[in-house]
Amino acid sequence: MLGNKTVAIIGGGPSGLVSCKSALESRLIPTVFEKNSDIGGVWSLSNGKVWDSLKTNLSVNTMMFSDYPWESDWYYGSGDFPTHLEMTAYLERYVEHFKLKGHIKFGCNVTSVHQESNGLKWIVEYSTTSTIAEKNREPVTQKQTFDCIIVAGGMFQKQRSIELVDKEKFTGEITSSGDYRNQTAFLGKSVLVVGDCNSGCEIAAELAENTVIKVTQVIKKIPWVLDKYLTKPSSNENPLVFPVEVAFFSREGSDFAKKNFKSEQQSFIDMNEWLSNVCSKQQTHKSLHKPMPSDVTPFIVISQNYTDCVINEKITVVQHPIAKIQGKTVEFANGESREIDHILCANGYSYELPYLSEEILKDLDYNPNNKKIPIILHKSTFHPTLQNIGFVGWFLPAMFPIIELQARWLSLVFSENLEPPTKEQIVEGLKEERAILASPFQKQYPHVEMVDMGDEIATIIGVMPDLEKIKSEDPHLYKLIYNNAFSTSSYRLTGPHSNQQLAKSILNNINNKYYCKNK
Ligand SMILES: Cc1cc2nc3c(=O)[nH]c(=O)nc-3n(C[C@H](O)[C@H](O)[C@H](O)COP(=O)(O)OP(=O)(O)OC[C@H]3O[C@@H](n4cnc5c(N)ncnc54)[C@H](O)[C@@H]3O)c2cc1C
Repeated sequence: MLGNKTVAIIGGGPSGLVSCKSALESRLIPTVFEKNSDIGGVWSLSNGKVWDSLKTNLSVNTMMFSDYPWESDWYYGSGDFPTHLEMTAYLERYVEHFKLKGHIKFGCNVTSVHQESNGLKWIVEYSTTSTIAEKNREPVTQKQTFDCIIVAGGMFQKQRSIELVDKEKFTGEITSSGDYRNQTAFLGKSVLVVGDCNSGCEIAAELAENTVIKVTQVIKKIPWVLDKYLTKPSSNENPLVFPVEVAFFSREGSDFAKKNFKSEQQSFIDMNEWLSNVCSKQQTHKSLHKPMPSDVTPFIVISQNYTDCVINEKITVVQHPIAKIQGKTVEFANGESREIDHILCANGYSYELPYLSEEILKDLDYNPNNKKIPIILHKSTFHPTLQNIGFVGWFLPAMFPIIELQARWLSLVFSENLEPPTKEQIVEGLKEERAILASPFQKQYPHVEMVDMGDEIATIIGVMPDLEKIKSEDPHLYKLIYNNAFSTSSYRLTGPHSNQQLAKSILNNINNKYYCKNK
């Protein structure tokens, strides 16, 4: 049977939206269940996880889907990094352009996903939340049956609870980064930010910009703090300036790494060495200095102002855990103490899948405390015991190019336009995930290699351009897709649902923007 199968998609964030679009492309009949009253997930206007001043930490070249490029006036004045409002507007335009709205059920919280007793279909139970229910009406529980399921509910639903010594003895306020919107509630206060990842550093820097806020930050490890732009030498006299991930990700770079890094450990040593040069400014300050050589996992934060805030003593960084709290006095393990009015916890999210049964969670090896890989899947998408159900966006970092490939893969398989992976392939994939977890040299994000992961899935689903053929037949196009920065649009050059003309125009625009402008 080709097409016409029904698919329930849990979540109307980027993963759910691209799943809906891909399902329509493959002639499936999608229904997106979104518990909020609007689309966007992390980027939702009604219930997002972002703060007022947040700009994306990856550029428009990565924060896009393959056949829907950003127009320059959609992020006017934001450099290459759109504001969260511009990001939401991009997603709203995407919904409009691909006519997705009619397939989304808003205010519908999926509470259970289970198979019919004969194992043929899936039942989705959901309750309509008060956002769309009439006033004072109790949420109504409903059921709907589907052929297939795409789990795209996102990993950032619930803030991870934090264990603070003497938490109950603290007489100030404690909040989480997910609740942070702007400086207003912190004016005139002494704030302790707990956390060393992107949110912790970015929020600490934003608070520290205001002279009436005193900021202390307690960290476990010192990050490498990259600016949003990187400068690379070029053959002509002007160096080329790239958004950081544009400089990092290319097929040429990925091949170079594979050839030259003899082992994971050696790659960490080389990477740390390179980062210590790129981040030479932070190496001058005692609080951010990292000794070299180092084979410790390179741990990166992208922030434009953080390093300067620390160097200019606007943020006091403490690398010792909290040992004692009494009233508003917080004492650290090195014996130093500070008076604190407000503790802001930026310790990340705990990864929740409350709508899946205990049995399914067991199959998935679900471990919400595992900060790297909370569920074990083949290429973060398939599981051998679960038929007609797949995952999109359940890996770190859930970058747009990869979630789109997952969505296209599932849609092609569910619509029977592509063979599903065999049990052996899936089991092999699970083994790879377990090996990542067991390795003593774990990357900050286990699936950060966007080019490798992208090309692997693209090859499976038949959208990987033939590099050798293109090299001999069209050297210009080869430069665009091999030497230049990685672009998700290279996956629209060939295969199912390709759009070669659009893909080439996007790739040429990237070339003109970053590789020709200084000539
Ligand atoms: C503060 C912050 C900043 C970030 N910045 C960047 C960035 O700059 N660049 C980048 O690439 N990534 C960034 N990310 C990662 C971000 O998660 C992705 O950009 C993207 O939002 C992932 O999309 P998603 O659809 O998988 O998840 P989400 O965006 O979380 O969307 C999931 C959706 O599913 C819905 N949902 C969940 N459970 C249910 C249920 N039971 N029933 C119905 N609906 C449900 C939610 O309401 C939500 O709308 C950031 C994340 C955070 C928290």
